Amino acid sequence: MTRQAIVAANWKMNGSLSLVKEMISGLKQVELASNVKVVVCPSFPYLAAYSNESTKQNLSNKFCLGAQNMSEQQNGAYTGEVSSEMLSELSVNYVILGHSERRSLYQETSNLIALKVAKALEDNLTPILCIGESEQERTAEKTEAVLASQIQPVIDEIGIEKFTEVVIAYEPVWAIGTGKTASPEMAQETHAFIRQYLANESDIVAQKVPLLYGGSVNEGNCEQLFAQTDIDGGLIGGASLKVEEFSVICSTA
Ligand code: PEP
Repeated sequence: MTRQAIVAANWKMNGSLSLVKEMISGLKQVELASNVKVVVCPSFPYLAAYSNESTKQNLSNKFCLGAQNMSEQQNGAYTGEVSSEMLSELSVNYVILGHSERRSLYQETSNLIALKVAKALEDNLTPILCIGESEQERTAEKTEAVLASQIQPVIDEIGIEKFTEVVIAYEPVWAIGTGKTASPEMAQETHAFIRQYLANESDIVAQKVPLLYGGSVNEGNCEQLFAQTDIDGGLIGGASLKVEEFSVICSTA
């Protein structure tokens, strides 16, 4: 079956209003394969500008907007938080949840992330659920156990059927922002494990869920990574801040 392929840009706490305009102008020139969507995830303050600018510049609806985080709460006294409803109002369609930086720097647990995934789905946002092991965990051969411990709370919270509306981004922590990419074979092997883990609950669901690879993807290594059977695109950090390089990555998917 042809799965939805996705290339998502995680700008993290980078970017500017001028990058918003440059990125949209650049992406307008990109030819995408028919099953590919591109999701740009700038910081919260740039979401409205991105949304308005893409309408103004007539960016095709294959280019979507995503946020980098959201609250699991509906609304109320949660200073500094942003709700899924607010994101939906800005024409945001996707939200990155459980990025390793959120897990390690802000102590987000897999249980909290599962609540966020459920809330996102409630407000029609597609969660990009990030999972991945540390270098220490890989060396100790704990990769599969770690990934399972990050996926299972989400299955428990939303049920396996709803998982067809979730995108998973496998991002080995040791490959994020380090220039150390997992080899295509290693990435494929881990993606195959993730798909099998979902298939143990439902093969139909497992075949539908897009699995993205993230971790030092660039214009030089994306082709081989995207060619793997169970890799359906990428979550791109550093290289997504460079319009030309990101455009190459999008057209390679
Ligand atoms: C990320 O932060 O999600 C990421 C994959 O970063 P980079 O591409 O820079 O490794």
